[in-house]
Amino acid sequence: MNYKIALIRGDGIGPEVVNEAVGVIDAVAAKFGHTVEYVDVLMGGCATDAVGVSYPEGTAEKCRACDAVLLGAVGGPKWGPDKPAQQRPETALLAIRKDLGLYANLRPAMLRPAMADASPLRKETAERGIDLMMVRELTGGIYFGKRDKYQTEDRGMEATDLMAYSEKEIERVGRRAFELARLRRGKVSSVDKANVLETSRLWRSVMHRLSEEYSDVEYEDVLVDNCAMQIVRDPGQFDVLVTENMFGDILSDEASMVTGSIGLLPSASIGDSAPGLYEPIHGSAPDIAGQDKANPIATILSAAMMFRYSFQKAAEADAIERAVDAVLAQGARTPDIAKPGDEVVGTREMGRRIREAIESAK
Ligand code: NAD
Repeated sequence: MNYKIALIRGDGIGPEVVNEAVGVIDAVAAKFGHTVEYVDVLMGGCATDAVGVSYPEGTAEKCRACDAVLLGAVGGPKWGPDKPAQQRPETALLAIRKDLGLYANLRPAMLRPAMADASPLRKETAERGIDLMMVRELTGGIYFGKRDKYQTEDRGMEATDLMAYSEKEIERVGRRAFELARLRRGKVSSVDKANVLETSRLWRSVMHRLSEEYSDVEYEDVLVDNCAMQIVRDPGQFDVLVTENMFGDILSDEASMVTGSIGLLPSASIGDSAPGLYEPIHGSAPDIAGQDKANPIATILSAAMMFRYSFQKAAEADAIERAVDAVLAQGARTPDIAKPGDEVVGTREMGRRIREAIESAK
């Protein structure tokens, strides 16, 4: 196959980690007989510096002309909150998700076997394993609802944020969750606050309808407060978790942290039509940018998700994930995940070893 991938290298460590992921994509493509063409897309603080805005005109069109988008990270203190919105990198992130119609955010939280001791959870809990997929609704709910702030007569200022969800918005992300569960261990846990919120009651009714349709998938409702507890008590019980935007924002960070390092965790944002957007969950880490210290694994695993979900190439995705596990098992660690006595390697060396593990795998 021939794949066309848009590269948004971005700011800070973004270009460094994307470089290593590109090397890995090339290695896996060569092994499996694919060709890959890359299209560089300027977005983020670097775009503000180059052309005056973080989301230059034509960014979404360039991405739409590709099969998938790989993003490093955008942002940094240079383009802080004091800058006008069109110069801020965060504006570009929200805009690209909206313009590409990326309504489902997939964040796997997995404790890689060689990293079991990095989890802050109790040893016996971590040893039971963590391998869950958080599916977060990304373009609706309270983050996109009507907001207001006004003066009252007797209570000072008052502010309001509206949380709204339609059946259509719930159903499309719900279907994604059930379909993912079929590819994994066959269980969906839908997270809501149906004992309080009307949006949650609608969410639950749509999920129940879908669970009848996907009767081969095990289904449960979990209240969001209980879910937050269960993620630290026994995350191994979860396979696919699906939830609305704000609950997902909070729970996906919690689920990430129980696995140890943000330098290891990938993500995908997908919609109904190509291209999906693949990116590490971490930011641009300006504190270590340009020092060959960044962990490239989260971006490399994002490339694995790209093969799995955008290209439907599970063997290629498996090859990348196995290579990462092999290199970690051999003991190589970037500084963020190293303990005293570990062999510490830089960004480029970690990338090189993973490429080599792909090339030498049978
Ligand atoms: P961050 O994730 O960039 O960094 C947090 C800490 O983790 C830092 O100490 C950093 O050195 C470390 N870290 C992050 N990724 C690492 C990696 N791959 N290897 C080794 N260490 C790593 O979060 P932050 O400091 O809150 O944000 C920095 C900038 O990134 C901000 O401008 C923020 O807006 C932006 N940001 C962008 C995205 C994105 O592009 N999707 C996401 C989050 C934050």
